Amino acid sequence: MSIINNGHTIQVNLHNQDNKLTIEGKTYLLQQFHFHLPSEHEVDGKHAEMELHLVHKSEDGSLTTPPCTEGVQWTVLENPVTWSGEQIGKFAAIFPHDNRPVQPLGSREIGSDE
Ligand SMILES: [Zn+2]
Repeated sequence: MSIINNGHTIQVNLHNQDNKLTIEGKTYLLQQFHFHLPSEHEVDGKHAEMELHLVHKSEDGSLTTPPCTEGVQWTVLENPVTWSGEQIGKFAAIFPHDNRPVQPLGSREIGSDE
């Protein structure tokens, strides 16, 4: 892996094919992960202090980030990861605000496994 400051966030690029997930029978490989402060998603109308994005790519070339060559499915985990105030403070010292604004829902659907 390599860790970079891309000017927008801290991003970790993975250089192996070892991290996969399967959704509805389709396999996606973890390409990179990065952070946002505060979160880009809201749960019950509230931002989390930070958000970790795991960016996966399917074997046929689609990405879950723009230009999004297929419908994007965001999965927001119900149980948050805990970061210390010190960790959040260190990130905020570099990127005090690096999230995109929440967009209108439009025709998108929100589901839950509850
Ligand atoms: Zn992101």
